[in-house]
Amino acid sequence: HTFQELNLIDPILKALEELDYKTPTSIQQQAIPPVLEKKDVLGCAQTGTGKTAAFAIPILQLLQNQKSQNRNRNIKALIVTPTRELAIQIDESFADYGKHLPLKHAVIFGGVKQNPQVGRLRNGVDVLVATPGRLLDLVGQKIISLKDIEIFVLDEADRMLDMGFIHDIKKLLKILPEKRQNLFFSATMPKPIQELAHTILKNPVKVEV
Ligand code: AMP
Repeated sequence: HTFQELNLIDPILKALEELDYKTPTSIQQQAIPPVLEKKDVLGCAQTGTGKTAAFAIPILQLLQNQKSQNRNRNIKALIVTPTRELAIQIDESFADYGKHLPLKHAVIFGGVKQNPQVGRLRNGVDVLVATPGRLLDLVGQKIISLKDIEIFVLDEADRMLDMGFIHDIKKLLKILPEKRQNLFFSATMPKPIQELAHTILKNPVKVEV
């Protein structure tokens, strides 16, 4: 299979070519079609499998395809991930795959001053990558509004629970608009993760590597 066969738009195919990505990985082949169909996805995959592109590529395509109808710059896609390193990597992936698209993205994480991160949010972004604590902090300060979120990604859910973020996730779920697409990724699927996935996802397509 090729990226062309996944019906990706030209600006994304061009970016993938420039990155020298030849073929989609297994998780990408499985996850990209249902995400493009706006379905919820439960992905069992670890870092190194191409999981980031498996959600970033179709999210960019969905947001680009609705751009003509939707002119505001409120956050449309929210990716929540446990660590600053992962957040930065994911944000860079959105930059890479979206380099020929007019979509804007930003990343926020704790442990550093908030002002430099907030500056980039001021003119509006389509995609926000965040760690849970800083995200809730900025929502509480009304610097970030989640009212137009259409796509929510919970990345590395098992690590998120291990790091004690469950309360933050529950708080966040209460703030998100009810009508949304959910993508849930975890390297392992023990009982508590399955239960969390069950509370978030509606009729998910299950993908596994
Ligand atoms: P991830 O699992 O998202 O952390 O990605 C692991 C690495 O694989 C990253 O450095 C990506 O740039 C790279 N990668 C992802 N998808 C592909 C692909 N289809 N072809 C080649 N490299 C890829």
